[in-house]
Amino acid sequence: MAWLVLNQVGQLTERQFILLGEQHHQARHDALTGLFNRKAFMHRLELAIAEAQDEDASLAVLLLDLDRFKTINDSLGHGVGDLLLIEVAERLRRHVRAADTVARLSGDEFVVLLPSATEQDVPSIAAKLLDALSAPYALGDRELRTTPSIGISLCPRDADSADNLLKFADTAMYAAKAQGGCCFLDFKPEMNHAATERLRIEYRLREALEQKAFVLNFQPKVDMRGQLTGLEALIRWANPDDIPIEPQEFIAIAEESSLIDEIGDWVIREVCRHLREWLDSGIRPPRVAINLSSRQLRQTNLAHKVARILNQAAVASDLLEFEITETAAMENTLTAAQRLRELGALGVTLSIDDFGSGYSSLSHLRSLPLDALKIDRSFVRDIATDANDLAIARGTIALAHGLGLRVVAEGVETVAQWKLLRELGCDEAQGFLIARPARAETLGDLIRAGRIAIPAAA
Ligand code: C2E
Ligand code: MG
Ligand code: MG
Repeated sequence: MAWLVLNQVGQLTERQFILLGEQHHQARHDALTGLFNRKAFMHRLELAIAEAQDEDASLAVLLLDLDRFKTINDSLGHGVGDLLLIEVAERLRRHVRAADTVARLSGDEFVVLLPSATEQDVPSIAAKLLDALSAPYALGDRELRTTPSIGISLCPRDADSADNLLKFADTAMYAAKAQGGCCFLDFKPEMNHAATERLRIEYRLREALEQKAFVLNFQPKVDMRGQLTGLEALIRWANPDDIPIEPQEFIAIAEESSLIDEIGDWVIREVCRHLREWLDSGIRPPRVAINLSSRQLRQTNLAHKVARILNQAAVASDLLEFEITETAAMENTLTAAQRLRELGALGVTLSIDDFGSGYSSLSHLRSLPLDALKIDRSFVRDIATDANDLAIARGTIALAHGLGLRVVAEGVETVAQWKLLRELGCDEAQGFLIARPARAETLGDLIRAGRIAIPAAA
């Protein structure tokens, strides 16, 4: 509007006019395919919903994702992948009516808005798009084949907000993928759960890896006088258009496939990169702990890889620590022990995470090259109110000290917990009372100070 008004009153030169027009176009269109982008699509969808509501009409959203696009992209290169996406966009444009909207949401994900479409109209349109996109693609001297998975939602049948319509179409699309792809499915409320949701998160995680949508937070650990003893790296997934997903949930899903290996590699590289940055800016960082999942312990080249990453970043191995949950250490005990010995030989520190939450055999723990044991948050939580938990904490600390291990209490939130832990002879603590996990950029001052003022520590 501002652009039109300014132009009307003659405030713009012709060149400015063209430039503004281009900027306006770029802000709303996808550069590769020329289709609308997500933002423009959402805007149009909102308008269409309002119109449908005024006229008591319905509308449909079709979300399309190409099956095995990643394989094409990885094996034939991004150039071929891009050509394929351009051709897909072209076919979609050709097969919809002028009043329909086609947009590219991200990667190989497209969406079609069919205003005033009814439940009866949609299957034939979806079938037409499925056919159109499944026909062979002649790209240069190659012939490629791909198929779409299509999820469908309707307003008002399924939802009457743009966000929900897109989300439900997305859910139906993952249900279509779960059936092997190359099909279209209508959204059903029961799809919102279990299998579809897992698959959806798994796909989103792969995307996040490619789009570098993970970040690390660091949570300080201190000794019982408040001296900084270390930081723990905790992964965060910044997925802007979804509800935030807790690491606990997405790590568990990643652990079911080789995704955890790729995410784990990224975490190790990213920690070393941050260590290097702190060192370069004259800050002496404390040791940083990385959480390892049991699947990573099965990588025969793990220690090798860690050594190489440390080397490339020129970071000393004593700045690195690995935390292995009690459960992971007890799975495949022989392999785990072997891996831990290899890591230990590099000079990195090793600790057992979430101790007390699993079933460790003491004789096995004794055989591992461990430096520390972290008492699970669930025991710390009620330590001041539950005599059993207090006894468990006391026993754990005695046991760990007997084995020559340091003890770190996790999840310390109150002064009462802190005082009790100090009396019990706990060596270190971590938790919201001391500091919450935070981005690396915000930690410079804290690391330089080397201590945290804890009211109870005075
Ligand atoms: P964890 O290794 O036991 O990490 C401690 C968790 O407790 C973190 O949750 C942390 O934010 C939270 N926490 C710390 N202090 C307090 C407190 O005082 N009160 C409460 N209520 N919570 C506290 P987060 O970051 O959500 O991570 C959850 C789990 O996800 C971690 O448990 C770890 O098992 C896993 N995880 C996180 N990052 C990674 C990673 O990079 N790789 C792997 N494999 N696992 C990771
Ligand atoms: Mg941990
Ligand atoms: Mg823990």
